[in-house]
Amino acid sequence: MIIAPGRRGLLLGAGAIAATVFAEARRPVLAQAAAPTGPFTLPPLGYAPNANEAAIDAMTMEIHHARHHGAQVAGLNAALQGQDQIAAMPLDEILMNLSRVPEAIRTAERNNGGGHANHSMFWTIMGGRGGEPTGDLKAAIDRDLGGFDKMKTDFNAAGMRVFGSGWVFVTVTPGGNLAITTKPGQDNPLMDGQRVLMGNDVWEHAYYLRYQNRRADYLTSWWQVVNWEKIAERYEGARGGTLRY
Ligand code: MN
Repeated sequence: MIIAPGRRGLLLGAGAIAATVFAEARRPVLAQAAAPTGPFTLPPLGYAPNANEAAIDAMTMEIHHARHHGAQVAGLNAALQGQDQIAAMPLDEILMNLSRVPEAIRTAERNNGGGHANHSMFWTIMGGRGGEPTGDLKAAIDRDLGGFDKMKTDFNAAGMRVFGSGWVFVTVTPGGNLAITTKPGQDNPLMDGQRVLMGNDVWEHAYYLRYQNRRADYLTSWWQVVNWEKIAERYEGARGGTLRY
């Protein structure tokens, strides 16, 4: 990669990398909306820690957010120290271009950057009252995932199949097509060029205080606190090219 002297040059360099990746995937370059670059900060939950009490206790929420996610933000920023070119890239572009990140910090970027993207999404799609998706999103779920009931069944089953720590996701293409997928560790579908519509964290730290080893009960209960308005916004963002991570 070319080492550009100024911030403008760095951002252009990052865009060129993203353009190359999208070209390889034979998809149009997404509209370049403003996206966060380093140093990264821990986003607020956006609701009280007990807002998801129907499925997740307040202590789990506090520890998960402040300590687990907080440590990943700190780790991400530490890895970016002295890496000005990478630090100037939006996080989604870093995750889509991990093979181009210097090897010395690639694993730290993958784990902490993936974790920051995953958890930042996770907090925003909870704090709701469950229920069911509506409108265009419901139509896409009916079309691609066999309807909402089948989506829940398949999503929960996929979450159960994650061996050890990881995530279960619904991904969304710029055309609005949905698919269920899983990732180990803190990997994110952006690493395969896929955007995340929604996802659930099946690391034990996400559920162990209340559910212990009963991951299936956690997965089933979790739908009660999903915020479908936020997920519908992510769906529109993916179709409009503004959803980053
Ligand atoms: Mn987690």
